[in-house]
Amino acid sequence: MTGTIAAVREQVAQARDRGQVPVGLVPTMGYFHEGHLSLMRKAREECGFVVVSIYVNPIQFDPAEDLKTYPSDFDRDLKLASAEGADLVFHPSDKEMYPEGFDTHVEPGSVAEGLCGQARPGHFRGVATIVAKLFNIVGPDRAYFGQKDAQQAAVIRRMAADLDFSIDIRVCPTVREDDGLAMSSRNTFLVDEERAQAPLLYQALTAARDALARGETNASKLRRIMRRTIGQNYLVELEYARIVDPVTMEPVARVDREVLAAVAARIGRARLIDNLLISPEE
Ligand code: AMP
Repeated sequence: MTGTIAAVREQVAQARDRGQVPVGLVPTMGYFHEGHLSLMRKAREECGFVVVSIYVNPIQFDPAEDLKTYPSDFDRDLKLASAEGADLVFHPSDKEMYPEGFDTHVEPGSVAEGLCGQARPGHFRGVATIVAKLFNIVGPDRAYFGQKDAQQAAVIRRMAADLDFSIDIRVCPTVREDDGLAMSSRNTFLVDEERAQAPLLYQALTAARDALARGETNASKLRRIMRRTIGQNYLVELEYARIVDPVTMEPVARVDREVLAAVAARIGRARLIDNLLISPEE
């Protein structure tokens, strides 16, 4: 474990000298669940040296958001990361990442405007900035992200292409609880009654998938089906239910190829998101 940029650079250089390549990076905000661990496992399978970063990035949180209450259990995370075979855990302080005078950000374009970009202004700017910094600190050959945060993965892919990071961006499948709820550190905010309603998000997505399989290609109708599945539920406040292009995140009117069905909702203290790639029948 290290908290300094200099030590990461040195350890990655030594690993490369030893021939431990490719170098893989798994960026996280900690409080690990199976979703995080699945990324580490994939990185371990594919890479000679695996770096896991644990950093709750303040600049991707709106001031009114949950930065202060974001869950953490660093000792547990360290044990889990080492059990998955991580070679190095990078856990920097805010001062290390944003020293006094820090004044440069990465501004993503239209891919960051819709969906979560609307409800969380500045969020993807914060994400792109921290990920660019981690890419420059670690210098990985591959970096691992979850499909659970599909717009984040699209923003990172766009950034890596546009800013010429020669890093292979790997996006791994969403890991779910048995009832379909996508695993998330924020699920811990749900009280029992709210937790019982949370699978509605995934049910809305599968309802859209099933309707598309029956031949419904009108995106407005698919959105209505998702909204109706979530329904008038006093515990679940739907933020959006959309059908978008999986690369650009632009809305799609008619589904004639693979699209992303995406939902976001507030349940109690938690803001939950989920998505599913869906395709029309061949
Ligand atoms: P976070 O710590 O929430 O920033 O997540 C770190 C990484 O884990 C991101 O690339 C997420 O997309 C990914 N991730 C979070 N939840 C899941 C999940 N349920 N399944 C797969 N990947 C996930």
